[in-house]
Amino acid sequence: MRAELHLDSLNSLAAVRNLGILAHVDAGKTTVTERILFTTGTIHKRGEVHDGTTVTDFDPQERDRGITIFAAAVSCVWDGHRVNLIDTPGHVDFTDEVERSLRVLDGAIAVFDAVAGVEPQSESVWRRADRHGVPRIAFVNKLDRAGAALDSAVESIRARLHPAPLVVQLPIGAEDAFTGVVDLVRMRALVWPDGGGTAVTGPVPDGLRPEAERRRRALEETVAALHPAALEEFCAPGGRVSDGTLRTVLRELTLTGEGVVVLCGSAYRNRGIEPLLDAVVAYLPSPLDVPAVRGTHQGAELRRAADPEGPFAALAFKVTATATGRLTHVRVYSGTIEKGDTVWDPATGRTERVARILRVMAGRHEPVGRAVAGDIVAVVGPKSARPGSTLCTPDAPLLLEPPVVPDPVVSVA
Ligand code: GDP
Repeated sequence: MRAELHLDSLNSLAAVRNLGILAHVDAGKTTVTERILFTTGTIHKRGEVHDGTTVTDFDPQERDRGITIFAAAVSCVWDGHRVNLIDTPGHVDFTDEVERSLRVLDGAIAVFDAVAGVEPQSESVWRRADRHGVPRIAFVNKLDRAGAALDSAVESIRARLHPAPLVVQLPIGAEDAFTGVVDLVRMRALVWPDGGGTAVTGPVPDGLRPEAERRRRALEETVAALHPAALEEFCAPGGRVSDGTLRTVLRELTLTGEGVVVLCGSAYRNRGIEPLLDAVVAYLPSPLDVPAVRGTHQGAELRRAADPEGPFAALAFKVTATATGRLTHVRVYSGTIEKGDTVWDPATGRTERVARILRVMAGRHEPVGRAVAGDIVAVVGPKSARPGSTLCTPDAPLLLEPPVVPDPVVSVA
């Protein structure tokens, strides 16, 4: 699972997912992140939020307050795909940081609490993600809690966030007895053993078959209403849309934002994380699927597509001081950067040398020789770059588009 991917062809760019996890405080974003790192083999021991041992909440102040203040980027590998996770703060006071993270994401998982449903901060972050055009899938977490109800959480997504929910799972068992899900796309059951981990896959249990069939039809009907071309498939002999077509249409609806694929589980019990990662790979965009980034130079509007052969352009989204030195976390939009290259910051007019390029893994930094369009890495060397700075090649200068002006922050009762 941990084999290094070489990102030097367009084919491998298709295997990158730059992903954020958006949530209201306490919905379980830190636990979901932790379980993703554990499930992908990136960390080998599960951390628990209540012991302060999670790797994404590395700041002592953050551990003390039990909220995610600082965005940390972590890279992991799932099913031949590199997943760069950019942690986004959920607390309403840190919306600038949310805003900056949203600029560099290609897609996101929105985590909801199965008891509380959509909460005010989830709504505010959702609107911001809408403005940045970030495609999302939803994970309804904490299905093990007393009072957890997938259907009412889905209803609150429909009523308050407005995309059509595309519910692709049916829970098996409720609350303390929540043990698995029926995958309504492939019509099979996934049941997690005690302690969570790898699901045991099997046929849909007889007792759940009528309900699973009904929900599968409801999913097909929602998809057909949103995507009339899929209707042709419904009219085919046999009347059932193929699983492959359904997945393709679900991906299209996710990319346009017309629908949101909804999955469920219990991060705490490590149930539901593998299908969530499968959905990230299946439905969320790669850097090749998102529009070219916009910038300007001397009044002219320029665009940079995700092309490793194009002129180098990157956006700094976070700067951290670590034992390794000053790390500038960047999203590379275009071109390739190698260790030793010089970069130009059009805002300061300074040219600086990139001494090292690091991939940020959980709790460690892995030196890499180069980074290409679509990647998220940290560079050591540039001293003047700040969050929001453009780094580009002096031969093809541009200033990447300034951040979208945020809406007034929605206050939370
Ligand atoms: P964040 O604020 O969104 O990062 O949420 P955390 O991951 O810190 O989780 C908040 C609290 O909810 C912690 O006490 C977690 O242990 C707990 N929690 C997270 N996921 C689950 C879950 O699936 N079930 C239950 N019962 N508790 C959970």
